[in-house]
Amino acid sequence: MKKSITALFASALALAISTHASAADDRYIVKFKEGKGPSVTAMMNKNGGRSLQSLEKRNAMAAALSDKALNALRNNPNVEYVELDVKRYPMAETVPFGIPMVQADQLSDAMAGNQTVCIIDSGYDIGHEDLYNTNVTGNYDSGTGDWFTDENGHGTHVAGTIAAIGGNGTGVVGVNPNGNLNLHIVKVFGADGWAYSSSLVAAADECAANGATVINMSLGGTLKSRTEDQAFADLYANQNVLSIAAAGNDGNTRHSYPASYDSVVSVAAIDSNKMVADFSQQTGQVELSGPGVDVLSSVPTGSSLQTTLTVGGSNIEAAGMEGSPQGDVTGDLVDCGLGESACTDASGKVCLISRGNISFAEKVQACEAGGGVGAVIFNNEPGMLYGTMGEVVTGIPSAGISDTDGATLLGQLGSSASLTLEPGDYAYFNGTSMATPHVAGVSALVWSHFPSCSASEIRSALTSTAEDLGAAGRDNAYGYGLVQAKAAVDYLTANGCSGSNGGGDNGGGDKPCKGKKCSQ
Ligand code: CA
Repeated sequence: MKKSITALFASALALAISTHASAADDRYIVKFKEGKGPSVTAMMNKNGGRSLQSLEKRNAMAAALSDKALNALRNNPNVEYVELDVKRYPMAETVPFGIPMVQADQLSDAMAGNQTVCIIDSGYDIGHEDLYNTNVTGNYDSGTGDWFTDENGHGTHVAGTIAAIGGNGTGVVGVNPNGNLNLHIVKVFGADGWAYSSSLVAAADECAANGATVINMSLGGTLKSRTEDQAFADLYANQNVLSIAAAGNDGNTRHSYPASYDSVVSVAAIDSNKMVADFSQQTGQVELSGPGVDVLSSVPTGSSLQTTLTVGGSNIEAAGMEGSPQGDVTGDLVDCGLGESACTDASGKVCLISRGNISFAEKVQACEAGGGVGAVIFNNEPGMLYGTMGEVVTGIPSAGISDTDGATLLGQLGSSASLTLEPGDYAYFNGTSMATPHVAGVSALVWSHFPSCSASEIRSALTSTAEDLGAAGRDNAYGYGLVQAKAAVDYLTANGCSGSNGGGDNGGGDKPCKGKKCSQ
């Protein structure tokens, strides 16, 4: 993830106020020679300095120093050194845009312990800092190995969207952020990521056997299977399991399975502007939409490329170029135009280059040829630039930034720029695979408030309350629209499980959606 650290200044500020340090005085650490603390302190006080924090065991103290006190200390033979007392910040936690978009932040997940989401995917990195290791179960699989590791990354990303820990000051936040939701992990994918339909049927049955109320399947294929169709129909109608699956990423109008079985909810992907993704398959089976473009979530620890760009002391959102080497470089920012030939005056500097005309790799090579230590390429159209080096091996770290940040940085040429690409624990993924866990997580969250409702009643509440997008009413791109957790809970509160208060909500005949798609 981009650790564009949202600094918490509160504690440092409170300390400065409580000690009445002059706003003009900077805070330093003063290291003195053994036994010389009292004399150094006396001399410092005489010159207008004030001790703020004793570090007795370190023969040091933090102090607010005027220029006069600073000079006096630096010339004092009893002082080993004086250094700036630099700031340290907690790692910030980012709320991915999809969480408020599906209204997950408007509901309590305190009851989610009555739900189990079963994730059929590539496993779960149980050592990840933002995923929990209680309330999660799985079984060893002779084909794919331990459920609690993830050699692919896909399953850990899906799990983070459903249940990444909120409020821990790091990483991201899931739809159910408080560790109450039960997870069951079935690992059907290894590193290379495919499985047989028979494995999927066995996985779904394992989900049910382990108490799943909701199954998340961020997977699919173009061919249907009678065995799958019957299995999911049985789970839905007879075992009260709601199955959610990805509509598919081929950008066409073909059905994908298991999403397109009547008993399974097919999920389309939309972006942060609620526009359907161009890759999202549009079919008569698409039922709900979820956020599925540039979705930030957890990946196995150390498996992503984390990018940090700082220019003139300010953080700029940057995305490391796929295939870029890792590195940590600093240099003055220099303009390399389009980077179509060796950048001039770039020796030891960070190149700022505009997208256009030639490949990103060639632009990075132009920077490298001019002696540049890092390359930043800005978009020539609206939005962030996510690029790749392709097959080209480059020697310096490179990253993409947005068109607007590029324009800003053109006004900061000569400023000190630092670009760091290092192993990270979070990544942005695209896909109906990312939309699906938003809907699965919301299904469990809503259901946790009404545990006596049936799978079909929860499904009906979600489709009835989705935010209509695209053409009015249901359409093949968005289905009934964007899933809305709070609206669904409000609907069930007002109307009961059956959706019509007084209409016999205790298992009578009024279940129009049971076993088939709702028509309205
Ligand atoms: Ca977190």
